[in-house]
Amino acid sequence: MVASGGPGAGGAPPRLVADAMLGRLARWLRRFGLDVLWDPAWDDAVLERLAVRERRLLVTRDRALAAHGVARDVLLVSSENLPGQVREVFSRLAIDPARPPGPRRCARCNDVPVPAKPEELAGRVPPYVLRTARRFSACPGCGRVYWQGGQEDRAREVLDSLLGNGDGRPENREG
Ligand SMILES: [Zn+2]
Repeated sequence: MVASGGPGAGGAPPRLVADAMLGRLARWLRRFGLDVLWDPAWDDAVLERLAVRERRLLVTRDRALAAHGVARDVLLVSSENLPGQVREVFSRLAIDPARPPGPRRCARCNDVPVPAKPEELAGRVPPYVLRTARRFSACPGCGRVYWQGGQEDRAREVLDSLLGNGDGRPENREG
């Protein structure tokens, strides 16, 4: 049961903490625009402490943890594939796939990448990417570089399936 004042209420973007089995989901959700803590080294006690202390939704595939844990907000993920898992999270948090709740985050560290100019990135991305890609951003947390047409497009495929755009085209948007 979602307590009132929990994720989605009051306009504050929901925050999550995911268990070790959900690394792929955590990385995808970060790129989509959700604040997701994830570290494969964290055990149940750490996960619950983070969920309680930071009022995060605990996302887990562990039935026992979901049933007997102390975290107030828990989502037991049942799907074994990424699109299904994303759908479960979106459903629980009432997220519209067309409206990310926050800025895109770094898949690796959950920080928010900032726009970067190609000339600042020499040596950090392959030369052909610097020549051909557009819209670069760099993560202040871990230094990872993102660009349009790179990792984001792979995330896009899952999103398109959720939006019903099976042919991979972005949703129609005016303006
Ligand atoms: Zn990072």
